[in-house]
Amino acid sequence: MSKLAAEIAKISVCSGIMLRHVLQRLNETGSGLLIHVDEDERFLQTITDGDVRRMLISGASLDTALDHVRKTPSITGPADMSDDAALELMDRHTIDHLPLLDDDGRTTKVLFRRHLSGRIFLSTPHMGDEELQFVQEAFASNWIAPLGPNVDAFETEIAAATGIGHAAALSSGTAAIHLALILLGVSRGDRVLCSSLTFAASANPIVYQGAEPIFIDSERRSWNMCPDALVRALDECKREGKLPKAVIIVDLYGQPADYDRLLPICDHYGIPVIEDAAESLGSKLNGKACGSFGTIGIFSFNGNKIITTSGGGMLVAQDPTLVRRARKLATQAREDVAWYEHIELGFNYRMSNVLAGIGRGQLARLDERVAARRAVFRRYREALTDEESIRWMPELVESQSNRWLTAATLDDELDPSQIIADLARVDIEARHLWKPMHQQPFYSGARFFTASGNRDVAGDLFSSGLCLPSGSNMTESQVDRVADALRRAINRARSNRRAAQP
Ligand SMILES: *Cc1c(COP(=O)(O)O)cnc(C)c1O
Repeated sequence: MSKLAAEIAKISVCSGIMLRHVLQRLNETGSGLLIHVDEDERFLQTITDGDVRRMLISGASLDTALDHVRKTPSITGPADMSDDAALELMDRHTIDHLPLLDDDGRTTKVLFRRHLSGRIFLSTPHMGDEELQFVQEAFASNWIAPLGPNVDAFETEIAAATGIGHAAALSSGTAAIHLALILLGVSRGDRVLCSSLTFAASANPIVYQGAEPIFIDSERRSWNMCPDALVRALDECKREGKLPKAVIIVDLYGQPADYDRLLPICDHYGIPVIEDAAESLGSKLNGKACGSFGTIGIFSFNGNKIITTSGGGMLVAQDPTLVRRARKLATQAREDVAWYEHIELGFNYRMSNVLAGIGRGQLARLDERVAARRAVFRRYREALTDEESIRWMPELVESQSNRWLTAATLDDELDPSQIIADLARVDIEARHLWKPMHQQPFYSGARFFTASGNRDVAGDLFSSGLCLPSGSNMTESQVDRVADALRRAINRARSNRRAAQP
């Protein structure tokens, strides 16, 4: 007997068996699945723990023989079915296993979802050909420790790629925001305005400095900081006689904020801007690179970002004195003398030469990665054009988003939690949008400004939105699988809702 045949025999049961023994067999085999066959070993049905439970609930007892219980129709495929087609069938029926039958109706193989490497992640690292070469150079020259030629080159290359004067390679995007605040003189008791709809790392460094974060709502047209809400906040701060020391503006999911409107407002009040471009390296507004709009810009190279150094960040600025000072503070604020001399408080925030090597290899492919993520977005949009309950994250006409994550909102009648859970059932990782900072328990005491009244755009986006898998290494068939699964999840949610209505 072949190994495959032996495995099938191990999980096969015939009609005379009592449910008690069916449960025992399920327990022993640990596969979660038995195959019910007739005396000629022809396939009758699959049986799972859940099936036995339903048989018992509908009146069978542990001593009932299997052939006295009504059979449930099982999904099967032909013996020569491809893995892709099998996955598609499993997705369609939300099942995790699929028996393949030959022409005589005998089981030749049982496919399990977990063996088909079907999991699709939100955003995974995408390595090119050059990263290892730069890392190897670091090893060969023993430049492992902090700093070295890869760090210098990575800084120069980021500055060149974004057209921003100068760059300091750091250990994370969060560290870059922290240093940016210090460079702008933010300290205890100061106010800093910050986009509310963002990752906590945008705002936490404000608290590191003992300053007070004040959150600003989003606008619908870019999902980013709302200029009208910003004006309200600044007017109010002015009236209170305490203007903020800085404004942190986030470019969400790769979409540049509306700097044409935001910057003149900040200029009018003389407040410097920190552009949190952690998610938007490679994006542009009016042909200018994201990261270049503030007095200081920051990027992140965390594992899920558009390019990665496994962990890392960059602080960029037009003004070389700011960047020089960032490098110094990031290196324990060591003074330029022969011994360890410290006049001010420093940090250990520099990027290592090994990781900068990964970054150089990644950066060489940035244009391709942006094109790939935009292609993922386009394919979703085309595959789901007729799905009216989906509204894709907008793109300002004067901008080009890197579409780091494909994000969308759903009609009010659909609950993103349910859709995300449904996608997880078929091994697809989708996520909620960032939960806005003004709704986070940690920031419950913080002030929050909307454009008018109690309209809460960021909150509405959060409660109706989701992000889909968007990695630059996704195949077209993976994007199609997600689109199909999303369509089914939406239809299921709709029909459940209708069924629940009186
Ligand atoms: C990822 C991210 C950060 C933080 O970057 P790290 O490198 O993970 O510290 C900051 N802001 C936003 C908007 C991010 O998405």
